[in-house]
Amino acid sequence: MGPMLVMKFGGTSVGSGERILRVAEIALAERERGPVMVTSAMSGVTDALLALAESALRGDQVDCVERLAVLEARHNEAAQVIDPGGDWRDLAAQFAGLRQEIAAATDGRGVWEIRDGIAAYGERLAVVLVARAISTCAARILDSTGWYATEGASGIVQPLLATDDHFGEATPDLAASRSLAREAHENAGKHGAILVAPGFIGRTMEGRTTTLGRGGSDYAATLIAAALDADACWIYTDVDGVFTADPRVVPAAQALPVVAFAAAGRLALCGAKVLHPRSVAPAARAGFELRVKNTFHPEREGTLLVASSDTTRGMPLAVAGRKKLAAIGLHGPGLMEILNLFARLCQTLAEADVEIVLAAQPVPGHDPQVIIDAARCDVARVALEREFAREIALGRVETVHARDNLALCTVVGDALPPGMLSQAQRALAQERITPLAQSAAPEALTFIVTAAQVDRALRRLHQEIILPALSEVQRRHRRPYAPGQWAAGGRAGQRRKQTLPQH
Ligand code: ASP
Ligand code: MG
Repeated sequence: MGPMLVMKFGGTSVGSGERILRVAEIALAERERGPVMVTSAMSGVTDALLALAESALRGDQVDCVERLAVLEARHNEAAQVIDPGGDWRDLAAQFAGLRQEIAAATDGRGVWEIRDGIAAYGERLAVVLVARAISTCAARILDSTGWYATEGASGIVQPLLATDDHFGEATPDLAASRSLAREAHENAGKHGAILVAPGFIGRTMEGRTTTLGRGGSDYAATLIAAALDADACWIYTDVDGVFTADPRVVPAAQALPVVAFAAAGRLALCGAKVLHPRSVAPAARAGFELRVKNTFHPEREGTLLVASSDTTRGMPLAVAGRKKLAAIGLHGPGLMEILNLFARLCQTLAEADVEIVLAAQPVPGHDPQVIIDAARCDVARVALEREFAREIALGRVETVHARDNLALCTVVGDALPPGMLSQAQRALAQERITPLAQSAAPEALTFIVTAAQVDRALRRLHQEIILPALSEVQRRHRRPYAPGQWAAGGRAGQRRKQTLPQH
C-alpha cells in the first residue's frame, strides 16, 4: 500500500449538491496520494434526524412523514445537481432503510440505540451523494476512477468502524476496526476506486449501528487513518484551520499555522468548535500528519497538528470559552465529618450521567464543588439531595447549592512557562474581572468567570497573551526544517513520516 491520505469533509463542506461536487474535485486533485474520503452528514441533517427520532419514539406518525419528506427533498435536490436524471436507486435504498428504522422505533430497544440507528442515516445518505459526485467528476476529468462505498447486502452503506455497544457515544474497537477498514480499502483498490466512508457511525460485533457522539466524524476519520496506516489525515472544514479564538467573539483571531495535539484536544473540550476532542488521540498515537484545512480554500496550508515541537513549546496558542456552565456543591457545618465526601459527590454525579467539567475545590476541607453543564443542574441537584439525604437530616449538610450563568475561560498552550499565570491574571485585572476559581497547569490556564464577563476576558487574554505569542509561533514555523522539528511551511504536497518527540 502506497502513501495514503484520508480526507474528511464536514457538514458544511457537503451542504449542497454544488458543494459535494467541489469536494469530489478536491479529492480527485489528490488522487495520486490514494485518497480515502470520510464524510459527515449534510449540515443540519443530524439535528433533523434526531428530531425525527424523537417523533418516532413518541409514535407521532404524522410528524415523521413530514420530517422525512423534508429530508428526502433536500437530498434529492442535491442528487439532481450531482447527476441530473441519473439512476438514484442507491439513495432510495438508504431512505428505505431509514423508514424501516423509524418503523422499528417502538420495538422496545433502548432509546439511545434507536436514536443512533436513525441518526446514522445522515452519513449514509452523504456517502451515496459524495460517491456519485466522485464518479461524475472522474468521468469528466479522468474517464476512469470510480468510487467504492461499503454497502451491505441490502445496499445500505455500512460503517467502517467497529465499536462497543455504548449507544450515543460508542468506544471504537481498534483491532476490529482495522480489519473492517482494510478489507474495504482493499476491495476499493481492486476496482481502482476511491473509498468513500461514513464518518460518525460504527457497528457492534452483532452488527447493531452505533455512533461516536455528536461531531464524531473527525474522530471517525482519524480512526480510519490509523486503521489504514495512512500517511496523513486532512480534516476539511469551513474555516482556515484551528483558530486562536472564536472569531465571532474575538475579531482579531487568526488561524494557527501549527498547534500541539494536546492543545487542540483541550481546546475542543474547553469550548472551541474545531475538532472532536477525541479525534487527535489516534493521530498522536500513530504519528500521521493531521491537518485542518478549508474546503473553500483548499490551496491554503491550514493548521498542522503536531506532538510538542520546537515551534509550539513554551507558547500559549489559543483561548477558548465555554458557556452555560454551573457550579454545584455542598454547604454545611458538618461537612468535615463526612468521610470521602468529594469522592461521593463525584460518584453521585457520574451515576446520574452528569459530566464534571472541572473540580473547583480550592483547598482541602473547603466546601466541595464542581463545575457542570448548566442544563444538567436540576438532575445533579436531585441526585445529590438523594445521596446526602441522611446527612441533610442530621444537619451536617445544610444545602446543595448551585450557581449558574458561569463560563470557563481557558488559555491553552504547550508547556506554558510559570510566569504565564500572573500575566493572565494581570490581563483579567485590566478588565476588572476577578475569577471565581482558577487552575493552572503547563498545558492550560483556566478561569471560571461569569457568563457576562467571559467574552471580554477572552478578548483581553487574546490581545495580551495570544497575539504576541502568535507572531513568534509564525516566525518559528517559517524557519527552515531542522532534524527532529516540524517546519512544513508552504511546501504543499510534502510528506514526511513524523518522528514524535516525547513530551
Ligand atoms: N453528523 C454528525 C454530527 O453532526 C457527525 C459530524 O458531523 O461530525 O454530529
Ligand atoms: Mg456535523
